[in-house]
Amino acid sequence: MISFISKIIALIFLLSSIVIGEEKETLVNSQCTRIGNKLGSVSIKDCLDIGLHATDGESVKGAAILIKEYPPLEKREPLGKVLLVGGIHGDEYSSVSVIFKWLATLNKHHSGLFHWHVIPLLNPDGLLRKKSQRINENNVDLNRNFPINDWENTAIKYWIEETGKNPRYYPGVEALSEPESNWLLGHVNVFRPDVIVSVHAPHGIIDHDGPRTAPSKLGALYLNYLGTYPGSLGNYAGVQRQIPVITIELPYAGIMPTKDEISSIWRDMVKWLRKNIVEEENSMENNQDAAPS
Ligand SMILES: [Zn+2]
Repeated sequence: MISFISKIIALIFLLSSIVIGEEKETLVNSQCTRIGNKLGSVSIKDCLDIGLHATDGESVKGAAILIKEYPPLEKREPLGKVLLVGGIHGDEYSSVSVIFKWLATLNKHHSGLFHWHVIPLLNPDGLLRKKSQRINENNVDLNRNFPINDWENTAIKYWIEETGKNPRYYPGVEALSEPESNWLLGHVNVFRPDVIVSVHAPHGIIDHDGPRTAPSKLGALYLNYLGTYPGSLGNYAGVQRQIPVITIELPYAGIMPTKDEISSIWRDMVKWLRKNIVEEENSMENNQDAAPS
């Protein structure tokens, strides 16, 4: 009798996990349809072919935050973990489209060199609305909503005094008030990336926050410190948490870089990661050796 009941319970679990699996697949399909209909450079099929998965993260309007993981492969220890994020700002179309191009590259050539988590679109509500917008559905700039120390006296103060309360940069009522930023932070805590690469537009430069030597150039984009914005991902993860954050600012929000340039940025980024992803183990010893006795 007991074994009969336990079999029934197991069956219920199995069926419910299949249902949950199907629901998640439906979430991916519906969001790929919306992404394909919105972006000129990504078709519905391009999006579906990537093999994205719905995370437990949701936007304000309940859109799934999608992810693709490229896990470590057998027989090769990855050099480290990389979190690649696009579409924090919903009107920076190229920042999402470029990530889809790189996802297609990874689908073909993932070699196990790194363990990747790729989130092509953190702000689905901002992008997938009739008129796309930088901010999320609650009109918050997600890239000012991260919980740096003394957030009110820095992020809020900056917004009032430096931007004149420009609504495009509104940091929210409090740090992590938004489900999208909250989910990303939780994901950083669980995945514990060695490096975060965040893609934006349209400044046409590379920015860097936190430890490690910044890349001087990725493709035709050169290092140019934009300054640190209180409550940004670079400010929080890079400066406060000491996780290197590379910000790639593409030159145009609405025009894609050429195919060659997209590959060139990717190749230079991988080269930089290969060299810088983990702190050289003996660098401390070297420093000690070099110190005057
Ligand atoms: Zn941006």
